Amino acid sequence: MTQDPYEILGVSRDASADDVKKAYRKLARQLHPDVNPDPDTQERFKDVSRAYEVLSDPQKRAAYDRGGDAFSQGFGGAGQGFSFTDIMDAFFGGGAAAGGASRGPRSRARRGQDALVRLDVALADAAFGVTRDLKVDTALTCEACHGEGTAPGTSPIACETCHGQGEVAVVQRSFLGEIRTLRPCAACRGYGSIIPDPCRECSGDGRVRSRRTLTVKIPAGVDHGTRVQLAGQGEVGPGGGPAGDLYVEIHVEPHPTFTRHGNDLHTTVSLPMTAAALGTQLTLPLLEADLASSAETPDGEKPVTTYDLEVRPGTQSGSEQVKRGFGVPSLRGGRGDLVVSIKVDTPTRLDPRQEELLRELAAIRGEESPDGQNEAPTRGMFGRLRDAFQG
Ligand SMILES: [Zn+2]
Ligand SMILES: [Zn+2]
Repeated sequence: MTQDPYEILGVSRDASADDVKKAYRKLARQLHPDVNPDPDTQERFKDVSRAYEVLSDPQKRAAYDRGGDAFSQGFGGAGQGFSFTDIMDAFFGGGAAAGGASRGPRSRARRGQDALVRLDVALADAAFGVTRDLKVDTALTCEACHGEGTAPGTSPIACETCHGQGEVAVVQRSFLGEIRTLRPCAACRGYGSIIPDPCRECSGDGRVRSRRTLTVKIPAGVDHGTRVQLAGQGEVGPGGGPAGDLYVEIHVEPHPTFTRHGNDLHTTVSLPMTAAALGTQLTLPLLEADLASSAETPDGEKPVTTYDLEVRPGTQSGSEQVKRGFGVPSLRGGRGDLVVSIKVDTPTRLDPRQEELLRELAAIRGEESPDGQNEAPTRGMFGRLRDAFQG
């Protein structure tokens, strides 16, 4: 992939600021994730937005033209919207950097902030994926001024204080002699221009807060705390700047009968004492069962909604069975297991006939007055494994 912002936007080296903006708007309309949600397009949208971030800022563009690496100027990188100059400003208090070298006016266009929203999803939806509509309160480009911040029919005028330079020289006397530093112009806040007639819709910010609905595809296998990144869906930047990213943090709601440990699912199956003693074959619902009834199913293929459990004669309460591949799909491929714990139910209400039969059984087995025994606590194989790992 090219890293040349000119190539990414498809404009020539001598393109005017207006041409750059037009090219960006045209591409943004085609590639916007609302129009084209596939990941490749979102990735391109992000690249285009970053290219615009560089070329729309006269200073970043000049730095790139001088042979600088666009990426080191806040293009790409951590994608946090920090540019080298922002960092210099933070450390040296604006304009003091590089011995007072002129940096020129700064652009009003800045990349918007990333946003984080929380999404509650059912365990089955997190495990097997789901498409959800999400309402997001965010900053969108102001329709009235197209992000310019100017009232219709007006445009910014050059700042008289700094003559459009965006910065003013300050001379200070010190023991080293006179020090001349450049500071951002207070009159225009470093923009070099002033908006005499701000847009009424956005008060000159170029964006307005609005609620919109996004359709989010949650991939199968996400877990509690997973963040799904939606490129270019965060806040639109001020001054028509590109949008930040939106992160959707997944919160998984507890399920009444299944719990998740990594990619494994755990559940407990209770069965009568007699079945545990004599053995039986059970068919039980899987986690997907509730999902399969509502979700679209692949053509003609019946989804698997149950699993079979072979209860051998003499099955103990607390014993475990592992059903391979019946767990949660992994984000990296493959699938976890289903771990089934058996709980043997002791009958509580016995009618006279049942009590008679049980007493007879006890007599035959010589258990009328049994001895109890102290034993190590039973926690099942997985409980013991966990203990071993946790030391
Ligand atoms: Zn506006
Ligand atoms: Zn000024």
